[in-house]
Amino acid sequence: MKRLLIRLDDITPDMDWGKFARIRAMFERYGVRPILGVVPDNRDKALSVDRAKEDFWPYVRALQADGWTIAQHGYQHRYATKRSGLLKLNKASEFAGLPYEAQYEKIKKGRDILQRQGFDVTMFMAPGHTYDRNTLKALRGLGFLYVTDGYADIPYYWKGLLFIPCRSARPKLSSGVDTLCIHCNELEESDYRELEDFLEAHADSLIGLSELLQQSWYARRTLRLCLQEEKNLLLRRIRARAAKSGRLQRYLQETYDADAARKRRKRLLGLPKLLLPKGGGK
Ligand SMILES: [Zn+2]
Repeated sequence: MKRLLIRLDDITPDMDWGKFARIRAMFERYGVRPILGVVPDNRDKALSVDRAKEDFWPYVRALQADGWTIAQHGYQHRYATKRSGLLKLNKASEFAGLPYEAQYEKIKKGRDILQRQGFDVTMFMAPGHTYDRNTLKALRGLGFLYVTDGYADIPYYWKGLLFIPCRSARPKLSSGVDTLCIHCNELEESDYRELEDFLEAHADSLIGLSELLQQSWYARRTLRLCLQEEKNLLLRRIRARAAKSGRLQRYLQETYDADAARKRRKRLLGLPKLLLPKGGGK
């Protein structure tokens, strides 16, 4: 079973509303109800594109009434440390590396703003996907239930929270459950086309948070899930390096096979050629 959620990061009163309106219309055409990552008190100038929307909060409340999920995306979206947190995807964090009390205070301030605006948020979305054990302890203490992050193939319970995997930045169906992470402000013409083609073909595999929670029961983070998560993170690092290395890309192309067992064999046999210095292998 392959199921995909969609999350929109960096929702602020002064985001790029033209781009947002276009993607919202697309989601409505295909019946997609995404997760909206709202920054409670944005202080990150990089996210400021348009004039601040005056009816921002009523607008977000209307989206929630339409079935969209509202998540808390950090507090001010200002990176305070260069820590990469538990997932090690980015070397910048609003939370990871700070003492527990400081993290608790920030998350609480953000949550209080959202609560005053009528949102009873239970899902957390850390800026940069960076959080550490203290972040999770603070989230639990503040009554959060869900984290839209993790790199296993299925959601799992850990530290009293349900982690819903978020492994994709481009539309694709991965095994198990995945979340496509979209930054509205950065969407280009080709991104809309790619997303529309994907929705046209796979709208049936899209799922909203409430539907996902109703459909399945999820287990604790077992050793098997830990290893799967490590494997997925390693593959991601290899793919990121492949994108920069022509040699690695050639290896991946030359050893590709639609049959998984054959591909594994080809990749293993091709390894010496990949690892030996250029011209060293005969
Ligand atoms: Zn963000």
